[in-house]
Amino acid sequence: MADYLFDLPAPPALGVSGTGALYPVTRIFCVGRNYAEHAREMGHEVDREAPFYFTKPASALTHSGATIPYPPGTRNLHHEMELVVAIGRPGFRIDRDAAAGHVFGYACGLDLTRRDLQAIAKEKGRPWDLGKAFENSAVMGSLTPAASIGTLSGREIALSVNGETRQRAVLDDMVWAVEEIIADLSRFYHLAPGDLIFTGTPAGVGALVPGDRLEGTVDGLQGVSLTIGEAE
Ligand code: MN
Repeated sequence: MADYLFDLPAPPALGVSGTGALYPVTRIFCVGRNYAEHAREMGHEVDREAPFYFTKPASALTHSGATIPYPPGTRNLHHEMELVVAIGRPGFRIDRDAAAGHVFGYACGLDLTRRDLQAIAKEKGRPWDLGKAFENSAVMGSLTPAASIGTLSGREIALSVNGETRQRAVLDDMVWAVEEIIADLSRFYHLAPGDLIFTGTPAGVGALVPGDRLEGTVDGLQGVSLTIGEAE
């Protein structure tokens, strides 16, 4: 037993629906601008040049049903409802045709964003960490194994805040399909079980305030819910 100077926290992990098992999370990758309508609302035209990525620490993972404090340092906290892919088999330079075989399962996720801090970072050409990689910024429902889902095609992704729909699209609207994302990301990283990929958000992102209740859904998956508490 190593002589650690302080107690290590339990590893972040997700429940797997229909089992008592936990999926331990080691890395969280996120795709930027993967729905054309959302890219447009953020002032960009989407291109098919290449997807781009940012990351969140695994410690940012928070489970569905939580109440989180309104995060510090922002006056413009935004919701981004996303399909999340969990990797189930190691792979490097994965072919697009083989990518589906590397998926363990899927979940609903909220990529919470301090939009004002992200905007400053964009403007000044700085990293996005303050805007994207903060405590409680990756909120997720439990995983559903890919084997029990079938095709993603035709499924709706949606988010309501206080019962009012804010985001709604079909997964087919993604600029880069799940298989393409896995193939591309695996050119830069040795993907492995424990890796999550947030696949981008549809149009309709917007500001949250204390007291807001969020309900996110993807057809056939466990939903994700969240309540925004008061600032600390
Ligand atoms: Mn996002």
